[in-house]
Amino acid sequence: MALSGLDIFKLLPKTNCGECKVPTCLAFAMKLAGGQAKLEECPYVSDETKDALADAAAPPIAEVLVGQGAKEFKTGAELVLFRHEKRFVNPTGMAIMVSDAMADDELTAKVEAATKDSWERVGQQLEVKLLAVKCESGDGAKFAEVLKKIAGMSDLALMPMSEDVDVMKAAVDAVGDKNPLLYAATAANLDAMGALAKEKNLPLVVKGDGVDSLAELSEKAMGMELKNLVLDPGTRDLKSTLEALIAIRRGALNSKFKPFGFPTIVFPCEETDDAYFEGALAGIYIAKYAGIVVTSDPDAWMQYPLQVEIQNIYTDPQKPMAVDAKFYEIGSPGPDSPVLVTTNFSLTYFIVSGEIEASKVDSWLGIVDSEGQSVLTAWAAGKFVPDIIAKFINTSGIADKVNHRKLVIPGYVAQISGELDEELPEWEILVGPREAADISTYLRNMVAQ
Ligand code: SF4
Repeated sequence: MALSGLDIFKLLPKTNCGECKVPTCLAFAMKLAGGQAKLEECPYVSDETKDALADAAAPPIAEVLVGQGAKEFKTGAELVLFRHEKRFVNPTGMAIMVSDAMADDELTAKVEAATKDSWERVGQQLEVKLLAVKCESGDGAKFAEVLKKIAGMSDLALMPMSEDVDVMKAAVDAVGDKNPLLYAATAANLDAMGALAKEKNLPLVVKGDGVDSLAELSEKAMGMELKNLVLDPGTRDLKSTLEALIAIRRGALNSKFKPFGFPTIVFPCEETDDAYFEGALAGIYIAKYAGIVVTSDPDAWMQYPLQVEIQNIYTDPQKPMAVDAKFYEIGSPGPDSPVLVTTNFSLTYFIVSGEIEASKVDSWLGIVDSEGQSVLTAWAAGKFVPDIIAKFINTSGIADKVNHRKLVIPGYVAQISGELDEELPEWEILVGPREAADISTYLRNMVAQ
């Protein structure tokens, strides 16, 4: 359970020595509770207190790491039931299901698509996170070969799937060094599968037959000192899966029920043969807390909308998405190219830069630090006003890159043009269009004159 600042303060030395670079122990405790400081920054915390704090400060839903290197995938670590209470932490990971019974070319095509396809949106790269590899042959040696082949083609995190412990041992021998997520421990194999996961220090899915049996299995797995668990309620229909996801999340957060304090995995690809319905199911489960969603199709028609949904849900509502404040080259601008300026709200940047690109008029786009706010909001908050814009222009070096002094500002802040004229006496301030859709025509007319 997350501790309050006051709870943490009670465990600190209370000497207010300031060595943590915060004036008082109370202020340090508050920063610690807010995730803005680390316990190690106080050199006087005893080992016992460290253990107590680490345990007590652990999130109610554990964080589980799968895979390794640049494509390591994190799930769990969630703190709240509703995003507006704080934020959701680790975005749902989309997984693609393949099997050792697939024809070679089909398997290769799916693995390549899942690995290579990614989509840039609002400055973030959206992509599949895992490959779920099912053993349908029942042959451990064949399964191991397929896993090795996939690992040679893809650096995505792997989830070998078999409830046969001998088959899973072969899988672990083949790709165990890649920190795969083992699927799955069940009531029938928990002792042996749990022992394998513990011996190899690998994350493990615990699969129940409904939430009640899942709770029992998870508790038993915890009793085996397994900490990196992912929960599959074993349900394979919309109503049961949705109820299970909600029950598990509420159990972990509201009732502090530790066996449910782990991320979840669901399988829309096993709930229907209708690909469109599968996509709809995945969308519903993403909205209701699923940590990992396994689907059958890596193609953009299914993945992209789901990835956008994940991006929207897991964006921190208290932290506007922003791009770096600087001048961006849109196309290949030269000394005669237009100079435009706007705010650093990501959506503003991507819409404006997209419209400039579409105009085919190479331009300089200046992005002013407005704390991630859009044009009108930033202006109203005093973050996109003449003195700030002028300071940005004067320190950006743009005057050395162009041989004219014409600066285009967004039409929505036409009212600042006079004052900006005074702040930037060498520049002619031009009021651009209010709507981004009109930028293209505006720029083409501008260069035609
Ligand atoms: S270093 Fe430790 S004891 Fe000193 S003020 Fe910070 S929290 Fe308190």
